[in-house]
Amino acid sequence: MARVRTKSTEPEIVLRRAIWIRGFRYRLHPKIPGRPDFVFTRTRIAVFVDGCFWHGCPRHGTLPATNRQFWQLKMARNVARDRRVNAQLAAAGWQVVRIWEHQIEQNLDRTVRKVLKILERPSA
Ligand SMILES: [Zn+2]
Repeated sequence: MARVRTKSTEPEIVLRRAIWIRGFRYRLHPKIPGRPDFVFTRTRIAVFVDGCFWHGCPRHGTLPATNRQFWQLKMARNVARDRRVNAQLAAAGWQVVRIWEHQIEQNLDRTVRKVLKILERPSA
């Protein structure tokens, strides 16, 4: 399980450090629905880095061969919770940005640019 935990937290740190060094300041794990990984309070942008396995990434959210029903239920619950959190945050005026961990692992620069583009929108 240590491996799973490491994989799900590291990409988040990699992403936020890359954003920090570009001069953007955020708050970590605020007490709002879903506890986003980090938020930009002034522009009300909440960023989640979703683990491919736990959040059912279409490319990497493959279920283990054993205990399929258990995993299916667990992942369906996670996905449903993510949707609920998105709706709660949107209702409270937050813009939700969800990043798959594989996006950070495969192309950090592109992922950082994606977040910065949202941050730099005139409406933000
Ligand atoms: Zn993935």
